[in-house]
Amino acid sequence: TRSTRPQRLLKVVQKHATRGDPQSVISAIDHFCRHSEWAMNVGDEKGSILDSVVSELNPEKVLELGTYCGYSTVRIARLLPPGARLITLEFNADYAAIARQVIAWAGLEDKVQLVEGASEDWIPRMKEHFGIETFDFVFLDHWKDRYLPDTKLMEDCGLLRKGTVLLADNVICPGVPDYLEYVRNSLSYKSYYFKSHLEYTKAEDGLEKSVFLG
Ligand code: SAM
Ligand code: MG
Repeated sequence: TRSTRPQRLLKVVQKHATRGDPQSVISAIDHFCRHSEWAMNVGDEKGSILDSVVSELNPEKVLELGTYCGYSTVRIARLLPPGARLITLEFNADYAAIARQVIAWAGLEDKVQLVEGASEDWIPRMKEHFGIETFDFVFLDHWKDRYLPDTKLMEDCGLLRKGTVLLADNVICPGVPDYLEYVRNSLSYKSYYFKSHLEYTKAEDGLEKSVFLG
């Protein structure tokens, strides 16, 4: 039977990227997705915005919602300070299996904990199961109808502190109007839009950075 796109993406990484070199993993995936097969990674253009937000924050406890093949996981993890920890959630077992290999190829498995399951099931268990007090940074990039309920769930579970930064992908394309309306109008957030383009295309998309004010 024909291989899946994530399997082909992994093959490209194994063929063209250097083990232990996250930048080469990122470049190999971007080249494949720009020239051969589009895939739903945050991509290079929005990826450089993601990089600057992560670098400025220098977070120690990071949560990623939606791993897919591990592209953004590698992007974020490569910038984290020693001792920092990134927990990434993925409910599709086939994607998770690919992501584990991509993350290991980049040499970042010590910084990353890939957790299989649904965000709505795992968010309430972060404290007891992973000993997390609060997150410094959360990257939201899972199914778009979950951004708002999972944000409220993180608030209710006490996982956000004054200064926690949420960065949400695809706020224009496909779009998350309910989430944007919430973070832009709530007195508990200060929110900024970073205009960019949908991964590997010229269509407008962007990232929304929202600082939790407590
Ligand atoms: N962040 C990745 C990147 O930029 O490389 C792309 C993530 S992709 C856009 C979204 C992923 O979220 C899919 O792999 C999907 O299976 C997963 N997902 C969607 N809803 C989820 C949920 N509620 N819990 C866990 N994973 C979810
Ligand atoms: Mg995305």
